[in-house]
Amino acid sequence: MANMTPTYKLNSSKYSSLYVKREDMIPYSFGGNKARKAFHFFQDIDKGDYDYVVTYGSSHSNHCRVVANMAAARGKKCIIIGPAEVSDSTYNSEMMKLFGAEIITVPVDQVSRTIDDKLDELRKLGHNPYFILGGGHGNIGTRAYIACYQEIKEFEKANNIFFDYIFFASGTGTTQAGLVCGQLLEGDDRKIIGISIARKNPRGRDVVLDSIREYLGQKEFESAGISEANIQDKTIFLDDYTGDGYGTDSIEIKDVIKKSLVMYGMPLDSTYTGKAFLGMEKYIRQNNIADKNILFIHTGGTPLFFDDLNKFGGRG
Ligand SMILES: *Cc1c(COP(=O)(O)O)cnc(C)c1O
Repeated sequence: MANMTPTYKLNSSKYSSLYVKREDMIPYSFGGNKARKAFHFFQDIDKGDYDYVVTYGSSHSNHCRVVANMAAARGKKCIIIGPAEVSDSTYNSEMMKLFGAEIITVPVDQVSRTIDDKLDELRKLGHNPYFILGGGHGNIGTRAYIACYQEIKEFEKANNIFFDYIFFASGTGTTQAGLVCGQLLEGDDRKIIGISIARKNPRGRDVVLDSIREYLGQKEFESAGISEANIQDKTIFLDDYTGDGYGTDSIEIKDVIKKSLVMYGMPLDSTYTGKAFLGMEKYIRQNNIADKNILFIHTGGTPLFFDDLNKFGGRG
């Protein structure tokens, strides 16, 4: 497939060769990595006769917005189960409602049981629900980011460049798992660096490793000759830049969001891309990285940028 999103060099005086791949510009429902994953999930859904799509996520979830949009476009019902602890109104949650999704909020420790109960209930009523893990986690989501890795390779070939480093925001780790699988399958040697937006190690990295093993364990790749040592070597998950966790109000993040918009006309948000961009800048500085080609993957979250704008205002 042709490249879904533009990649170009940022006009930056600080870094001579910093490029961005704008996954936020995937032309569907404000884009982002959740749109790329959802395209792959709905390819699977379209093959069956499912009448419901069930998933979970908070009221801030980009994944839930995109899934609700794609379900509505097909005339399918969408049920979103979310934690009551994070259920405030956001641009994403308003869009989920606009798409007619049924939103069920329960205390976070009841989410998993509520999903099971809801799926049982639907099946008993004769419905055929399709379930997607939060964030589009799982092999299908991983495959979506192998496709993204292939696009990066195509860009490199067409422009005679090699990215020594690839940085991006890592959450559930599916995006990272796909990129690392792409690298392993191609036998490339570069640093793919996931900047954790919340999880700490060892768990954060372990989840990425599990996703990679789960994907590569599939029959078709058993013969690819990839060892556990290769997987360990290529999985870099940095938890030094999570700030105060999921959503953050730090001045540093606010500054990087403002700077990116002013300097590059590129919106970032305080939960994902702002944190990753700031983490990348710090990592480059701390490790004295110079004369390298660096790619930042903008993973989306444009509606969150507007939530931040409401919160921060234009003054800060
Ligand atoms: C979900 C999300 C991420 C993290 O992606 P994972 O595949 O869960 O690691 C990064 N950026 C944005 C904007 C997201 O919505």
